[in-house]
Amino acid sequence: MTAPRIRSRIAGEWLEHGHVHEIRNPADTAETVATAVFAEPSEADRAVWNARSAFDLWRRMPLMQRSHILFSASRRIGERSQSIARSISREQGKVLPEAMGEVQRASDIFAYFAGEVLRMHGEHYPSTRVNTEIEVVREPVGVVLAITPWNFPVAIPATKMAAALAYGNSVILKPSEVTPISTSLLVEAIVDAGVPESVLTLLIGGGQLGGELARHPGVDAISFTGSMETGRSIRRAAAETDAELQLELGGKNAWIVLDDADPALAARIAAESAFLGTGQRCTASSMVLVTPGIRGAFLDHLREEVARFTTGDPLDPEVRIGPLVSAAQRDKVETYLQQARAVGYRMTTGPAPRSSRAGYFVVPHLFESVEQEDPLATDEIFGPVLATIDVPNLDAALMIANRSPYGLSGGICTQSLDAVQKFKREIEAGIVTVNLPTAGSEPHVPFGGIKQSSHGPRELSGHAASFFTRTRTIYISSVPA
Ligand code: NAD
Repeated sequence: MTAPRIRSRIAGEWLEHGHVHEIRNPADTAETVATAVFAEPSEADRAVWNARSAFDLWRRMPLMQRSHILFSASRRIGERSQSIARSISREQGKVLPEAMGEVQRASDIFAYFAGEVLRMHGEHYPSTRVNTEIEVVREPVGVVLAITPWNFPVAIPATKMAAALAYGNSVILKPSEVTPISTSLLVEAIVDAGVPESVLTLLIGGGQLGGELARHPGVDAISFTGSMETGRSIRRAAAETDAELQLELGGKNAWIVLDDADPALAARIAAESAFLGTGQRCTASSMVLVTPGIRGAFLDHLREEVARFTTGDPLDPEVRIGPLVSAAQRDKVETYLQQARAVGYRMTTGPAPRSSRAGYFVVPHLFESVEQEDPLATDEIFGPVLATIDVPNLDAALMIANRSPYGLSGGICTQSLDAVQKFKREIEAGIVTVNLPTAGSEPHVPFGGIKQSSHGPRELSGHAASFFTRTRTIYISSVPA
């Protein structure tokens, strides 16, 4: 069977020219899942002017019609969940149940924002002037550029597109060049639901194309999720054009286990937070800070948990984690593992991969009593690697957790209400969990980090309106001046 060909689309026109790139299955690198034609960076200009000209059409569409289209997108994504999820597994390596969960999340996000179309509202004030009223109206910002990473190739584009479209913007999506297949299927579902093709542009390509788009003066707002380094370059580009910015970047997320926690529950939570998604989640917790009274029992359970995390083909139902997404990602993680092995920390690893194929497999690794200054304790690793760090108490744990320049997520396992209250107040993280694994996101509540993990207004929920709309203030007098 010939591999499908993934292409960009501007106003319904497929772009046939450009560098052709093979998308390989990270669980079996001999398999080409699809070929992708990367759009020439020069197409950025056409894409932006097309999106500008489409903006009026979409913002003026009757609200109920816009809302119905987004509901229909939610339904279509749900109806196609099997094929979209399988393509996530085959191009990104995520196990099928997690991929299905990701597609469901995308469908839920569209359902939420279909309702949000009708909840958009302004404000009304009396004026300090006689016979005068003040209206504060919300309106779409214009052309939104969404640039997304490979680790959630469906949920993250859905998060940005659903909100941008709900509030009446036209959208240019530049997904990760590593995982364009599932994102293309998502866009197809949205267009089939009735979003005009001129309103939603898909441009497949790498960093050069992304940079060209980010620097374009016709872009009004950029919503970006990805690495800190790319975030910085987008910030510099937007400083030149004055585009509004929303950045969701990296994280080094700490998990704290206190003496009074249930050791078995804490171990399960720590293992899931570190290893699910093969550790390639921005909210993954790759460091556990553990107090002395529970350390022995917790680690006994944690070693057993690690032994249960089977690696292999993401479509194999016996497998809990798939491969890493690429050779570059595998090599980066291997470098950390080599350094940690050389130090001589006590180490536990998961079972050997269940697959004989050549894939980017790295089994889960647990390193115990890691030094606070070790790269395992400071860097975002983005692989199935977990370091435990011994701490005397909650204060010491908070101090280490808060040293990081990142502030995305943080969690605690304890039965003490006092400790929970202190943790809630003092942990420097935008997403905080108590006695639960690392949180994903729910559509009706805001998502985002603090410190260097995020910049600009929150994603999801009604808070998204702060980014995808702008306000104007209108003074109205009922008598001639
Ligand atoms: P990346 O920064 O390499 O790439 C992200 C996107 O930016 C891709 O589409 C890429 O083509 C594009 N890009 C690259 N260079 C560019 C440039 N100069 N100008 C414009 N666009 C450019 O990130 P990645 O490796 O795809 O994703 C992993 C990173 O994403 C991790 O650091 C992870 O923590 C982060 N992430 C954060 C969140 C969050 O919500 N905070 C969620 C998921 C992933």
